[in-house]
Amino acid sequence: MKGIEMDDRTHKLPQENMLRRRAEAELQVTSEKLAAMSESDVLRLVHELQVHQIELRMQNEDLREAQSALEQSRDRYNNLFDFAPVGYLTLDDRQHIRESNLTMSTQLGIERVNLVGRRFSDFVVPESQDLLHLEWRAALETGRRQMELELELHRGDGSRMCAQITCVKEPDFDSDYDTITYRCAVTDITFRREVEALRREKEMELEYLAHHDMLTGLANRVMFQQRVTHVLTRARRQKRDIALLYLDLDGFKQINDSFGHEMGDRLLVLVAQRLRTCVREEDILARLGGDEFGIVLEEVSEPWGAPRVADKVIEALRVPFVIEDRELVLGISVGVCLFPADSTDASELIRNADIAMYQAKRRGGNAVHFYTPALTEAVHLRVSTESALRRAIDGGELEVHYQPMMELATGRIVGAEVLLRWRDSCRGLLLPDTFLPIAELSDLIVQVGNQVIHLVCAQIAAWRARSLVTPRLSVNISARQCMSDEIVTMLRQALEHYAVPPLALELEITESCCLDKVAIGTVLPMLKTLGVSLTIDDFGTGYASLTSLRNLPITSIKIDRSFVAEIAHASGDGAIARAVVALGRSQGLRVIAEGVEETRQLDALRKMGCDVCQGYLIAPPMPAEEYIQWLQDNACMNQTPT
Ligand code: C2E
Ligand code: CA
Ligand code: CA
Repeated sequence: MKGIEMDDRTHKLPQENMLRRRAEAELQVTSEKLAAMSESDVLRLVHELQVHQIELRMQNEDLREAQSALEQSRDRYNNLFDFAPVGYLTLDDRQHIRESNLTMSTQLGIERVNLVGRRFSDFVVPESQDLLHLEWRAALETGRRQMELELELHRGDGSRMCAQITCVKEPDFDSDYDTITYRCAVTDITFRREVEALRREKEMELEYLAHHDMLTGLANRVMFQQRVTHVLTRARRQKRDIALLYLDLDGFKQINDSFGHEMGDRLLVLVAQRLRTCVREEDILARLGGDEFGIVLEEVSEPWGAPRVADKVIEALRVPFVIEDRELVLGISVGVCLFPADSTDASELIRNADIAMYQAKRRGGNAVHFYTPALTEAVHLRVSTESALRRAIDGGELEVHYQPMMELATGRIVGAEVLLRWRDSCRGLLLPDTFLPIAELSDLIVQVGNQVIHLVCAQIAAWRARSLVTPRLSVNISARQCMSDEIVTMLRQALEHYAVPPLALELEITESCCLDKVAIGTVLPMLKTLGVSLTIDDFGTGYASLTSLRNLPITSIKIDRSFVAEIAHASGDGAIARAVVALGRSQGLRVIAEGVEETRQLDALRKMGCDVCQGYLIAPPMPAEEYIQWLQDNACMNQTPT
């Protein structure tokens, strides 16, 4: 505004001087003309002059009025500019603030003199700088006239202001339109943003309240239902089994009635804490209401995964709770339902688990009941097999069969694998696959393993007593047996007891055994020291790398049956078998192939450089007497053990 006034004054002064000079010159001419005029002409002239004078005065008055109107409108504009409800800034093309209205300075709490001349970006918080920079560049490069952006600005008192800014780019008329001006309207939206944030926070709080149990902090029934639905969708896609456990406390009502709700609440919190220790982080645990809880187990890989957790829960609650020096005893009834075996949708799964829980309660509580007949059967099978197997060990129903192993280069029988059989009085001869997986679930496998060692040593001793010298025997050892040095003691004692030389035995261990720290560090080296040699069974199906084998006391590897079977298939070329043979030989290991059923497999294996073969083509597993007969028939007897 000041600039405009200055310009008016500097233009007006020389113009007035010029006018005066011209008027004086004309007056000179007029005076000369006047002297030559008649009196009547002079009077007429004076009259006209007076009229002119009046006209001029009137014109002057009009001008003054117009000027005052202009001044009023300018004042009005200034007021509007300063007290507009939005902040207003004019920036030059280098972001310097050239003008600011009063609202802007009030919004920021910074005096106008401290704004004008400074760069606008000086007032922008670091987190918003990048956005400003980007938008500004885009406006410069694209020639876009308008930009809208939301930035946070520093206020004078150190607080932050959330600003919604609309900038319009214009040529600057003050500088004859050769520079650019940005006119920016700045709205303070801090309050609006704060309200929004508060609302979001409240919504989240409500959401939490709607999905959680306030007392225990666990998920509530609504959330449980939602998560179960979600988990089932995923399980359906990944073809996985899910188990849902419905839990109900036994005896909670009595405690609540006798000691009051406050005590009841405290007890529920402690129960929730104990339940948490029974499940993994990724399992779902919820309080379904009152004294009812729910658990969802993802990835139940075996039928007894769920009962195992149920047992854990019952055990966890068996220890009395102590509140204010008072011991409180609770029990828990657990119902289990499986997806997809029993139910395929979330509500049904929860309902069926609930039904199963009632069955457990009816049986007196502190028990697990399975909704599924299949699961009940699986658990029954496990329990009955375990006890039958225990009886079989004691009753001498376990026996071992022998399957010869032949050296490919010479055709000599260089060993035999010892394979376990269970001669059950009702069911006949049982193969290991029907009972060993169940034995593997507990320490029962260790007892079975010990029995096998004793049977084998006793057999060798018996043969020796009959002067029958048989090839070396390979005994299968389970991974669980390798994980404790008990096997070393047991084996040493058995060898001593039956006076069997360690050289007469070889142990077949699994790849998983080679990954176990105790096995690698202690058990395997001790077995080696004892003098028995070690073979890795089913090689290629696990994760053992040959580099890890290099440091182990291993002498042979056995290619898994499946890779040998591939050699016989029209489609398979036996590439894996070939690779395993090459790998084994490169490490100086003896390579054995099992499951050889056809001559072409035998030929192929021979060509690959495999050392030893075993399979139905040579002979099936046979009971002891049959095996001796077979050896005699094939003229393999009286050989020194290899
Ligand atoms: P494995 O160690 O792989 O034993 C070889 C299996 O292949 C035996 O089955 C054997 O009968 C079978 N087999 C032999 N020749 C052929 C053939 O030409 N073709 C086919 N398809 N199969 C053949 P089995 O006796 O049923 O034993 C199964 C598994 O049980 C064994 O597999 C081994 O892992 C385990 N096992 C057997 N006895 C014992 C034992 O005393 N202790 C332990 N821990 N595990 C044992
Ligand atoms: Ca084996
Ligand atoms: Ca095998």
